Amino acid sequence: MTKSLAKQLIDRHDLVGKTFGKWTITKYEGAGRYTAQCACGHIASKQGAEMTHMRSLQCFHCRFKERKANEKVGFRYKVREEQ
Ligand SMILES: [Zn+2]
Repeated sequence: MTKSLAKQLIDRHDLVGKTFGKWTITKYEGAGRYTAQCACGHIASKQGAEMTHMRSLQCFHCRFKERKANEKVGFRYKVREEQ
C-alpha cells in the first residue's frame, strides 16, 4: 500500500494562507501541524488533516458564542409561525 494522495498533500506546506471556515492557516509547524488563526483572533495549533476534512471550522470560543446565539434566537421555524 502506498501513502494516500491526501496524506502527501497534508504533509506539504500548501495549506499556508488558505482558509477553512473561520480558520486561516498562518504557519507550517512541521509533521503535518499548522498554526491557524480564527476570525475572532484566537490562535491554535491544528493538524492539517483536521482542516482539510473540515472537522474544525471555527475555534471553541466561536462555537460557544454561536451556540449561545442560537439559544437566544430560538428556533427559526417558530419565528416564521408568528408572521
Ligand atoms: Zn474564533
